[in-house]
Amino acid sequence: MSLNVEEARAQSPGCTHRLHFNNAGAGLMPLPVVEAVKAHLDRESLHGGYEAAMEAAPLLENTYAALARLLNCGTDEIALQENATRAWDMAFHSVPLGPGDVILTGHAEYVSNWLAMLQVSRRTGCAVQVVPNGPDGAIDLDALRRMLDHRVKLVALTHAPSSNGLINPAEEVGAIVRGSGALYLLDACQSVGQRVLDVERIGCDLLSATGRKFLRGPRGTGFLYVRRSVLDRLEPPFVDHFAASWTDREHFAWRPDARRFEDFEHSVACRIGLGVAVDHALSFGMDAISARTAALAADLRTGLAALPGIAVHDTGMVRGGIVTFTMEGHDPLALQAAYADQGINVTVARHEIARLDLEERGIDRVVRASPHYYNTVEELDRFLQVTRRMVER
Ligand SMILES: *Cc1c(COP(=O)(O)O)cnc(C)c1O
Repeated sequence: MSLNVEEARAQSPGCTHRLHFNNAGAGLMPLPVVEAVKAHLDRESLHGGYEAAMEAAPLLENTYAALARLLNCGTDEIALQENATRAWDMAFHSVPLGPGDVILTGHAEYVSNWLAMLQVSRRTGCAVQVVPNGPDGAIDLDALRRMLDHRVKLVALTHAPSSNGLINPAEEVGAIVRGSGALYLLDACQSVGQRVLDVERIGCDLLSATGRKFLRGPRGTGFLYVRRSVLDRLEPPFVDHFAASWTDREHFAWRPDARRFEDFEHSVACRIGLGVAVDHALSFGMDAISARTAALAADLRTGLAALPGIAVHDTGMVRGGIVTFTMEGHDPLALQAAYADQGINVTVARHEIARLDLEERGIDRVVRASPHYYNTVEELDRFLQVTRRMVER
């Protein structure tokens, strides 16, 4: 299951300029993606936006097909969005909730998802309960089983948090939730494009993700998977003339498919680019990408942990492409700037946006380095050398 790294790098011009360890922030777009986006902008400027969209209809349709291949679902189960937050929101705000109802979530939950839960809890009187982590730092499956009673209407889980290398056991959670009557919404923002995601194996009803991170699509893209069998249990929070048809003066009818969660206006160019990004990932194979990304990240953790004064903060038995660490006596923000001076891209995760994860572990900020399959062992070595020099200074 080896992967042609030279080929991947040849198609990723950013690799020659920067050591990019910020794939959890935004992956480097490969050439075919950039070319597809530019080509559509050219069509729009030469032929007109509506006319260009008609010409490019098969390319746009391919984005649905590519995502369906990526997730192992039907094209009618995909809705495109401008980002993952809105995709998640569309799903979340569609779930009927009222006083006495319960939402279960976990410590890995993304900040904006948690804020939306607080808002809805305030508005509707439903309760939000956080399933504790087990000793390994992943969601405690026994606790989930105990907490999953008839009041639970939604289990909302983040697969891979943005502040930690942890990968939550999404499939095991699916097996527990299945048959409980609750809906299962998985935030797969940080796992899409770096892990194999199969909605049948996971057993989720809803899955949201972004295009720009490990999937390497354009910024301003996201998508939602909606299981066909739950479509009619959900009421999208917004309606427009794309999501529904105006059947007579007083009535409308939702579209028959998941695209009822979309609306009319969007960047056609970016959506086409998203489909090309998915095809690009699939051309290397998600198994191969997943194996290589996890292996590079694991080696990075080992290398960092061997340096004096460095603490690696990732939890969980299963870990992905995010590596978080601190260096004694150094502010992570200053480290980020020092790496940038060396042409190295990393970012910082702060407790203010990870209160259920970092704050509860007593951590203020961590450096987040997130390699991807197109990174190399040589880059890893260079990163460790630069880090060692910072430690010694
Ligand atoms: C980045 C991220 C999001 C939000 O994605 P956007 O496309 O920026 O809206 C949601 N959940 C997780 C876990 C993330 O890392």
